[in-house]
Amino acid sequence: QRALGAYPGQVIVDLAALKSNMQELVRVVAASGSGAQVMGVIKADAYGHGLIPSALAALAGGARWLGSAQPREALALRRAGIGVDRCRILAWMYNAQSAPLDELMANDIDISVGSLADLAQVVKAADSLGRRARVHVEAETGFGRGGFTADTFDQTLKALQEAAAHGSIDLVGLWSHLAVADMPGVSEFVESTQAQIDSFEEFSERMRQAGLEPRVRHLANTAATLTRPQIHYDLTRPGIGLYGYEPDPSMGQPSTYHLQPAMTLQAQLGTVKNLPAGHGISYGRTYVTEHPTSTVIMPLGYADGIHRSASGFDQAGATGQKHLGGPVRLMTAQGPKLVRVAGRVCMDQCVLDVKGLASDMGVQEGDTVVLFGPGRGEEFAEPTADDWARPAGTISYEIFVCLRNRIPRLYL
Ligand code: PLP
Repeated sequence: QRALGAYPGQVIVDLAALKSNMQELVRVVAASGSGAQVMGVIKADAYGHGLIPSALAALAGGARWLGSAQPREALALRRAGIGVDRCRILAWMYNAQSAPLDELMANDIDISVGSLADLAQVVKAADSLGRRARVHVEAETGFGRGGFTADTFDQTLKALQEAAAHGSIDLVGLWSHLAVADMPGVSEFVESTQAQIDSFEEFSERMRQAGLEPRVRHLANTAATLTRPQIHYDLTRPGIGLYGYEPDPSMGQPSTYHLQPAMTLQAQLGTVKNLPAGHGISYGRTYVTEHPTSTVIMPLGYADGIHRSASGFDQAGATGQKHLGGPVRLMTAQGPKLVRVAGRVCMDQCVLDVKGLASDMGVQEGDTVVLFGPGRGEEFAEPTADDWARPAGTISYEIFVCLRNRIPRLYL
């Protein structure tokens, strides 16, 4: 078999960092004294970090639950040998009609239900399988996405009572999702989070009065896990924290939590060349060199998941605008140097302006550069995924999940 050849970029995932982040989240939750357990949210291929290795690292760090959005990811965990003795798995599926409910139940996967239509599907599947579905009721407390609304909840309670009495469901949980918990300093958002908490309490009380007390109540994402111990309830559901990031990069600066970014994205440089001042770069000439400089090809592009919105524009370029491109750390003879994407990100590559002569800096084709990593100190000039999220106009979450699988993943 002929080797395909190495890919000019790699995603490196530090599983020890992932495990340690989960240990930190478990420590924070234990300190709240609620006795809550922690779920590792591993949806979307563990936020692009790799489903199975990340799930195992989360469990090694003390997670007692795993949570996914798509049922197939929950099933993949069981198929990989993560049995019910190791952890509970919750799939908060969004469409019971297309979900493989039989398989979910046969594999002891907890199912979220947020509408009467979904509940009816789950009851039907449970009855025909002769099993009790483990159900978590999703409450609409103000997120405006999924979940039962308060005004129709009486009808819901009746349907749940019937399904429970009939032996079709085991009512395990009640949950909801917070809209703005990652903005703890902004008072209008503090109020809206409080309104969600009050609404959650009301749902909980109405269930209790109907004799349907859920055993596992859960509301907190990473932001609330870190900053709101009073709403840890029985279980918290951190996602981004497991991967070493805080949901809003300004949330905890300087960070008081021991979270380490687990992912590094690196690439090997392509062609290096010298260009005179005034030379346009890439499609649309949105960037024009200011001085004689070296440029270098960075062989990852939007087909790899590098956001085109992280292109670099220059005032002298065709758009007449200034927009910093995504940052990349080069190693030079003088030490690390941060350079940026110059001009438009292309499908398979981008151009970096080295801002000087590569020959003077000892920068050459084949050198390994870092797009983002743990962000070790100023001395190392290492960007993080947040430093890519800003120019790309997005959040670290999207930076990770957009990275395509054609970039090989290496696990440390
Ligand atoms: N719970 C649910 C239902 C989610 O959809 C998510 C992610 O968006 C999380 C928990 C984890 O959120 P975060 O990554 O902000 O911790």
